[in-house]
Amino acid sequence: MEPGSPLDIVIAGGGTAGWMAAAVLARFIGNRASITLVESEEIGIVGVGEATIPQIHNLLIGLGIDQADFLRRTHASFKLGIEFVDWLRRGQSYVHSFGTVGRGVGLIPFRQLWLKGRALGTAGDYGDYSYNVAAARLGRMGREDGGKGGTPNLAYAYHFDASLFAPMLRDYAEGLGAKRVEGRISSVECSDEGDIAALRLDGDRRVAGNFFIDCTGFRSLLLGDALGVPFVDWTKWLPCDSAFAVPCASNPVFRPFTQSIARDAGWQWRIPLQTRTGNGHVFCSGFIGEDAAREALLANLDGEAQAEPRLIRFTTGHRAEYWSRNCVALGLAAGFMEPLESTSIHLVQSGLDRLLKLLGGDLANLDTARATFNRLSTIEWERVRDFLVLHYVANRREGEPFWDHCRAIDLPPTLAEKIALFEEAGLFIREEDELFLDDSWGQVMIGQGIMPRGWSPLADNVPADDVGPYLASLANAYRTKAATLPTHRQFVEAMTGKTMEHVH
Ligand code: FAD
Repeated sequence: MEPGSPLDIVIAGGGTAGWMAAAVLARFIGNRASITLVESEEIGIVGVGEATIPQIHNLLIGLGIDQADFLRRTHASFKLGIEFVDWLRRGQSYVHSFGTVGRGVGLIPFRQLWLKGRALGTAGDYGDYSYNVAAARLGRMGREDGGKGGTPNLAYAYHFDASLFAPMLRDYAEGLGAKRVEGRISSVECSDEGDIAALRLDGDRRVAGNFFIDCTGFRSLLLGDALGVPFVDWTKWLPCDSAFAVPCASNPVFRPFTQSIARDAGWQWRIPLQTRTGNGHVFCSGFIGEDAAREALLANLDGEAQAEPRLIRFTTGHRAEYWSRNCVALGLAAGFMEPLESTSIHLVQSGLDRLLKLLGGDLANLDTARATFNRLSTIEWERVRDFLVLHYVANRREGEPFWDHCRAIDLPPTLAEKIALFEEAGLFIREEDELFLDDSWGQVMIGQGIMPRGWSPLADNVPADDVGPYLASLANAYRTKAATLPTHRQFVEAMTGKTMEHVH
């Protein structure tokens, strides 16, 4: 194919990944590409995936989707971070909040001042120095105000109803000319060279294209089945392999954060939406039976169950290549790392971003773009994996078989290095474009009980007597300002113009 000739892009699958791809491609390269999406209502979508990270703003802003409209259409709520309960040991909790923790002084990073204050006995809990945590603890949410009064803006993401997000994107993509074909893909037709040429659908139909995006979920029909790209299994690092999911009635406490509660052989999520709470129990089937896992979920809902719990089985890991020949996989077709830090939807978004940067239009010469895509995707996925593994391995739930197993996990060398650096003096170096930044790693390391032995000499530029008052003034400012914000419920209702009782 000549440079500049039209792209006939076929997207297989219409879950969150498929419709995100259709919307983004229609918006940004719709003038050069025809976009066709094939999906099967009969097969349906995985139907989970309701918590996001702040990078979702780039998607919504890029597509020009109005925030209030988004909140109304997807029954969304705000997410300031994730509260991890009982992960280090029973009875302990911490918040991994979005945004910054504290404020450094000149070149001195905040964490170094906190470590020094801790040694001096004048520092409070690490979470006391996050404005996001202060607002989360009080159940508050507020508008960006440009950092007035010395407090940063609240950094936030959303929780949304997974069954409403893809339809919203579908309307958007179809409005820009993307075509939808309903039908079950029965086989994938490849050319003599081995590229994908067309999807064969039931009823003897054929959808041809010159570039394919595999969004068929765990089935990975194109990249996995048709092109035979093997799966790299990460079970030895991320051993959970199943989840029960169930919605329940809303709790009057409308939390502006996700809860992640450690259980005997896994963990439970609680995701508050305007109309209900999404719940799930992620577990390791080698350590707990299905019935017990289901019961553990039903016994720990904070509202009445609205359906029968649904079982989803998965294997953590990814395809050895994310892009092979003329096919890129996005979403579950590319791999899955479990939902502990709500990263899957983001990985679809970053995969699309990378694809847009690398897809030049000359489909005869994709080798370099493909190799770069695969290299960068691998780095991104492996760094996210390390962050997730950290939560499991750094636990002190001694005498509990699943958690004992997790503590004994052989660390990926990249994670071992990060932990060693942090243990020394709370140090962190961001590698390449890795997703989670210093403040995320710092909060989870400290929350999981990895306490640095010392602090950087940089912190000694502040006299010992000044450290405590400085820390106290920051915590006080965050707490005081958070208390002036509207409640999460008031904030959502003001944005949507609807009381939550009237949302259906
Ligand atoms: P799916 O939703 O499974 O869509 C696959 C599509 O392919 C469907 O349209 C289906 O009909 C179609 N299809 C399949 N086979 C055929 C065929 N033969 N013919 C035609 N069409 C076909 N992510 C987050 O970011 N945050 C979270 O909190 C989160 N929680 C999760 C919890 C669990 C337990 C799981 C398993 C995942 C979670 N995820 C989360 C991941 C998230 O759900 C997915 O990344 C997201 O939904 C994208 O899914 P998908 O579109 O790749 O797959």
